[in-house]
This record gives sequence, structure tokens and C-alpha cells, in this order.
Amino acid sequence: MKRAVFISLLILIHTYTLAQTPFSFQSHSIVPGTKSHIKIEVSSDKSSTFIPITIFHGLKSGPVLGITAGIHGYEYPPILAAQQLNQKIDPKELSGTIILVQLANVPAFLGRSAYLNPLDGKNLNRSFPGNPKGTITERIAHKITTEVIAKSDFFVDMHGGDAPEDLRSYNAWYQSEALPEVSKKGKEMALAMGFDYSIIFNIQKERLKTRSIYCSQEAFHRKIPSVDIECGRLGIAGKKETSQIINGMLSLLEHLKMLETNTKLNDVKPRIIAKRSTIKSKSTGLFYTEKKAGDFIKKGELVGYVTDFFGNRLEQIKASENGVILYMIGTPPINKDETLMNIGILP
Ligand SMILES: [Zn+2]
Repeated sequence: MKRAVFISLLILIHTYTLAQTPFSFQSHSIVPGTKSHIKIEVSSDKSSTFIPITIFHGLKSGPVLGITAGIHGYEYPPILAAQQLNQKIDPKELSGTIILVQLANVPAFLGRSAYLNPLDGKNLNRSFPGNPKGTITERIAHKITTEVIAKSDFFVDMHGGDAPEDLRSYNAWYQSEALPEVSKKGKEMALAMGFDYSIIFNIQKERLKTRSIYCSQEAFHRKIPSVDIECGRLGIAGKKETSQIINGMLSLLEHLKMLETNTKLNDVKPRIIAKRSTIKSKSTGLFYTEKKAGDFIKKGELVGYVTDFFGNRLEQIKASENGVILYMIGTPPINKDETLMNIGILP
């Protein structure tokens, strides 16, 4: 009899420690073991839109992982990966909670607009933490900050090369001497994703006191381990890149002990890049290059040129450092002071 009581007590303790209460999100209450699709309405004086969000609330307790796709509406692999993660993640198998922003910038997506929200001409990934009384983009940023980032224990923002950007896939984690524990967790997250290039976004202590500007950086400013994914190029809805993002995210869920996924990653030891160099254009006109993202270049090497609208060469573009082209302008239009190439300096 005593033994039976003891066993009952054990079962009770076990059930108690694993039991989850419903997850509250705005006016919704999401029962453990289920998922909910929610549209957050956002409107300003001039326009209105919505943010489609899926919340997976696991049967078992665990951390809250925030994920955003479509901060840039022309970067399709992350958006398509989010659509598929929606199907692949079973809340009955999940420990913890996932807040998945399927598409942060619906107006940019439907308007097929690179970088900018066509409703106000602003770049959502330059608008964080946002402003509840600002333009529509600033209000979207504010909603994501307060409803997603602020509720997360871990955070991932997913991007790719926008319409004119050729890009070599990588992920990145935020790191700062001021936040060693948060930085370490971010590094572990990034490395768990199986990307062969990982970049360190090093943030000075003073920078942490200023406006975050970027979505993933807002999470880091709030002491949340934060990773940025960059996967996809030239606004193409690439299947390979979409799969890479899905596998990376499933592997991250395994690393965070939120889901058993048995994801198979390639065994590559990642190249870690701590330093980058930017080549900017001094002229406006047409950019010509034989290079593509992922190419290795040598300091001083001619990597392209810019002409005016009559074909006269205005500028020879030379590599600023030895390294790998992480992303570059892959189409002809170029404006003065724009980034032509971002080079990862290999150790
Ligand atoms: Zn982006």
C-alpha cells in the first residue's frame, strides 16, 4: 500500500513538472499540445496590414523560441521555410513554445518590393525597436518587439539575399564582452544549425545602450541569445536554400531540447568569420563584375567596374582585403555610397 502511494506521488510529481499551462498571447489562450494561427492587426493613420503568426505550444514545458521570417518581403527561402516549419513541427512532440512570424512584412511581400515596405518606403530591418505611434513599418517593428522578441528566451531572424543581392549562405550570432553568457548561448545556437560559414556580430558595450535598429539585434539588446540567418540569393525562391534553413532550424530545436528531430546535418566544421570589410561605390551608374558570392578574392584584385549611362568607365573596383565575398550587388544598378561587396576576412 505504501508503495502504491509512493508511486502515485511520483507520477503526480512527474506530471506536475511536465505539465504546461496555456500560453497567453494577446486575447488568445493556446492549450498545451496545440498550435494557433493568429493575425495581428497593425494600422497607422494612413494604412493597415497584419502579421501572420503561428504559435506552437508544447505539451511539455521548455523555453520560448521566437522566429521571424519575411522582415524583408523579397527574401523567399526564409518565408518558404517558415511555411514548411508550420507543417513539420508537431506541438504534441514539442517541449516549450515557438512563436513563428510567418511573414513580418506582408505589404513588401505582396508588393514584390525589395528592402522597403511600399506603404511608407521604410526598411523594417532598420526600424527596431519600432514606435507604436510611428509609420506602418515602425508599428510593425513595435509589434514584433513587444509580442515576439520580448516573450522569447531565444531568437532567430531569417533572411537571404534580397532581389539585387547575390549572397553566400551563412548564419551569425551576436557577441559582446558585456554579455558573455548570452553571447555563448547565441554561439551554441548558431553552430548547432550546421551552416558551414558562421559570422560573429561583435557589439561594443556602448552600442548596447543605443537603438537596436536591426530585428535580431533588438533581441540581443534585451539579453536574449540571438542568431541571424542569411540564406538565399537574388530574390530567388531556391529549394536548396529553403531546405538548408529548415534543417538548420530543426537542428536548433534539437539543440535547445525542444524537439527530437533526427536532423542530418553535413559534418562540415564551420569557418568562423570575425572580421568583414565593405567595398562601397563612389559612383552612380552601371556595375559590371565577373564575380559572384562565395568567390575568394585577393586584396587589390580588380573585381569589377562602374560606368556612367554612356558606357564611360567611372571607377575600377578593387578588393579591399583577402577573403570571401559574403554578399554583393549582383545586378547592374548602383548608387553612390552603396555597398558593392561585403567580404568575410578568413582567419
Ligand atoms: Zn533581409
